[in-house]
Amino acid sequence: MENGYADLHVHTRASDSTFSVEEVLDLAKSCGLKAVGITDHDTVEAIEPALAASVNYGVEVIPGVELSAEENNYDIHILGYFMDCKNPEFKQKLDELRASRLLRAKLILEKLSAVNVNLKLEDVLALTEANTSVGRLHIARAMKNAGFVNDIPDAFRRYIGQNGPAYVKKQFLSPKEASTLIKNAGGISVLAHPGVLNNYELVESVIKSGIMGIEVYHSEHSGSTVEKLKELTAKYNLFVTGGSDDHGAGKSKILLGSMLIPYSYVEKMKIYKEREREKTEKTEKPEKTGTGS
Ligand code: AMP
Ligand code: ZN
Ligand code: FE
Ligand code: FE
Repeated sequence: MENGYADLHVHTRASDSTFSVEEVLDLAKSCGLKAVGITDHDTVEAIEPALAASVNYGVEVIPGVELSAEENNYDIHILGYFMDCKNPEFKQKLDELRASRLLRAKLILEKLSAVNVNLKLEDVLALTEANTSVGRLHIARAMKNAGFVNDIPDAFRRYIGQNGPAYVKKQFLSPKEASTLIKNAGGISVLAHPGVLNNYELVESVIKSGIMGIEVYHSEHSGSTVEKLKELTAKYNLFVTGGSDDHGAGKSKILLGSMLIPYSYVEKMKIYKEREREKTEKTEKPEKTGTGS
C-alpha cells in the first residue's frame, strides 16, 4: 500500500502563481496530499511561511526552487529540493536573478510600448508580492487586464514569447551553474519537465552536467515521454520526481493535485540527504582516537 502522495512542483505568489501559501496548503489538504513541493522561480521567499503554516494543514512542505538555465538557446528549468535556504551564496545569487528580472520587465514594457501596448510598471508589479520574482506571466496578466490580449497564451504568442516583438531574454545560468548552486546549498537538482524540450540529446547532455534527478511526471508529459524519461533515470541512476506545475488561476486551469507521485520518491531523496548529513558530520568531527585525553 502506498504511503501517501506528493505534488512536487507548485508555484505561489512569491513568483507567478495567483495562490498564496495558505491557498496552496488548503488545496493540497483537500486533495489529500501528504506533501507539497514549493518551487518558485528564482526565489525561496515562500518557503519559511509555508513551513510555518504547514502544521495547520497537516501537509508536509518540501522546500524547493525552480531556476532558469540556458543551453543552445533552449530555456532549461532546473528544480532544487531540500537546499539550505539561508546559504549565503545561494541567497545572493537568487537576489541577483530577481534584480535582473525587474530590469528585464522594464525592457519588455519598453518593447511593448514600441508596438503600442502601453502598460505601467506599477500595474505589473501590483500583481506581484513584495520582493517577488517578476516574470512574463505577470506581464501577460496585466496585458489581459488592460484588454490588449484575450488570454495568456495570446500574450505569449503575439508579444512576449520567444518569437514575439517584445521578447527579452532573462539573465540565465548555465545548467551546470544552476545544479552546482543547488548542490553547494545542500540541495538535490532535478531537470524540470524535460519532455517540453523535446530534444533528448540535449536532455542527456544536461544530465551529464551534474543533474541528480528528473521530473518524470509533469502535466505536459505524455505517457510515452514518461516511459522514455524513466529509462533515463535508470540509465543514469537518478532520482524520480513529478508535479503539476500549478500556477493557481494565473496560467491556465488549476492543476494542483492533478499530477501525484508516491511519497516513497520523496523518502528516497530524504534518505540521500540524511546520508550526506552523516558523511559531513563525520568529516567535520573525526572520531577521537585513544589518546587518553
Ligand atoms: P519567465 O520566467 O518570466 O520567462 O516566465 C516564464 C513563465 O511563463 C512560466 O510560468 C512559463 O510556464 C510561462 N510561459 C512560458 N511560455 C508560455 C506560453 N506560451 N503560454 C503561457 N505561459 C507561458
Ligand atoms: Zn511560472
Ligand atoms: Fe518550468
Ligand atoms: Fe514551474
